[in-house]
Amino acid sequence: MRRLLLALPFALLPLVAAQAADTHDHEHGSLGAHEHGVARLNAALDGKTLELELQSPAMNLVGFEHVASSDADKAKVAAVHAQLAQPLALFSLPATAGCTVASQELESPLFGDKAEDHDHDAEGDEHDHSEIHAHYQFTCATPAALKHLDLGNLFKTFPATQKIAVQLIGPSGQQGVEVTAKAALLTF
Ligand SMILES: [Zn+2]
Repeated sequence: MRRLLLALPFALLPLVAAQAADTHDHEHGSLGAHEHGVARLNAALDGKTLELELQSPAMNLVGFEHVASSDADKAKVAAVHAQLAQPLALFSLPATAGCTVASQELESPLFGDKAEDHDHDAEGDEHDHSEIHAHYQFTCATPAALKHLDLGNLFKTFPATQKIAVQLIGPSGQQGVEVTAKAALLTF
């Protein structure tokens, strides 16, 4: 799989630094880049390929960050997983662009993925922060129809999300934008 975002590391230095901090500070729950209510989105459009990478505190999406044990919590996690698995609707990609999902990956400790750092005891885990990462690649038959990326439905679906810090790379260049529910429209 071609990863546009990784092909452009210069564009993502702050995010890479944030991810490194994420890994190292995880066991103390002191994530500098993890602020509840705030998510990050990388979006890259190159020819017919659209790539979206959403990184969100689990709190914004499911309302908690511990691994679900009760039936109610498990149901909540399953519902969020199902919503994230429908990215065409979640990101309101216009039908006229003819986008299809080429690949998608959903990763989170809440989805049963093993955390990368397992050198700390399980006892302290309930106070740790957890994120949900969603990575999508689309092939769009008519990319010219992708003038905008409307995150309105994302805010509507996950109302605990207050702000999304977006790195957008498209035909007109690269931009960093902060979007909110009231100003959720991005222009490529
Ligand atoms: Zn957290």
